[in-house]
Amino acid sequence: MKFGTKAIHAGQEPDPSTGAIMTPIYQTSTFVQASPGDHKGYEYARTQNPTRTALEANIAALEGAKFGRCFSSGMGATDAILKLFEPGDEIVSTNDLYGGTYRMFTKIYAKYGIKFRFVDMKDLDAVKSAVNENTKLVWVETPTNPMMSIVDIEAIVDIAKSVNAKTVVDNTFASPYLQNPIALGADIVMHSVTKYISGHSDVVMGFVGTSDPTIDEQIGFMQNSAGAVPGPQDCFLVLRGIKTLHVRMDRHCDNGEKIAHYLRDHDKVKNVFWPGFSDHPNHDVAKKQMKKFGGMLSFALKDDSQDAAFRLLEKLRVFSLAESLGGVESLAGHPASMTHASIPREQRLEAGLTDSLIRLSVGIEDVDDLLRDLEEAIG
Ligand SMILES: *Cc1c(COP(=O)(O)O)cnc(C)c1O
Repeated sequence: MKFGTKAIHAGQEPDPSTGAIMTPIYQTSTFVQASPGDHKGYEYARTQNPTRTALEANIAALEGAKFGRCFSSGMGATDAILKLFEPGDEIVSTNDLYGGTYRMFTKIYAKYGIKFRFVDMKDLDAVKSAVNENTKLVWVETPTNPMMSIVDIEAIVDIAKSVNAKTVVDNTFASPYLQNPIALGADIVMHSVTKYISGHSDVVMGFVGTSDPTIDEQIGFMQNSAGAVPGPQDCFLVLRGIKTLHVRMDRHCDNGEKIAHYLRDHDKVKNVFWPGFSDHPNHDVAKKQMKKFGGMLSFALKDDSQDAAFRLLEKLRVFSLAESLGGVESLAGHPASMTHASIPREQRLEAGLTDSLIRLSVGIEDVDDLLRDLEEAIG
């Protein structure tokens, strides 16, 4: 089955008791047993819930993973992955990691004796020299936030394998429609389902997928033992949102492309970061591992000041100023004062994250209205 068919049907059967075409919201904490142990595969809703089962099977199918587990947030998913490791283990990761992931690595798990190394993963030699016999995991995020850097997943998997380490890819920015890390050799794929997969800015959720039964069993153990599970109502909302994932992503990508080119041609814009440009530093890698280039982009102004960025953001009427991404509505953000405010300015500038940098999550509205909104705001 192809992606659009799987998005609508995978993991879902008409409800056997009524024929309902939509998976019911099994709003229950427990399941009745005929005699102890004689049940229909469901005992207690932290361990399993039929609405969640349908969703887990669906996202796993979209990622080409044999198994999938949902969590109450993207961070809950990341937490379950990190719990697979022990004191003394080393994890190598990108240096422009999602801020919440960086915080969990350095403020929570470092305390328990896991060692983290951060490298620029565009530089494969830097990754090679960061791994050693203690490296148990390589953590990839691509495209990265907010500079839209692209990391070569297959090349990183090869390096990880050379020291018997596993590879996980945070696939949130690409979505399963644009990129499938398991097919590229990764052991684990994770998502903030909150973003493109859910797609309607009304749910917070996470996902972990793998085709390795041992890893899935361990993730399932953490899911049940630590208990960061999503409720059935949220699972239903995501199942509903996913049915249009492929249609939404095509429009996100088309609108993103038009806006990227519009901004690049604008005389008040200094530079635009979007992996679809043929002169993007890793455009060839993006082309190889992604189906299209996505609806996320960043740009800096020639007047590279926070004031100029703030003036622009205050004038936007269709784009909303907000954190998060991946919903049907267009959002704009100012990383230097919002998501990346805790990074020292010098370090931020070194990474290209300048004072005027604005990040757009391009939605699926009519692109003419989005372009007019930007035109009026840039002035
Ligand atoms: C939002 C996000 C997360 C965290 O997910 P939550 O659902 O907010 O907990 C992790 N990684 C990336 C790339 C994200 O954008």
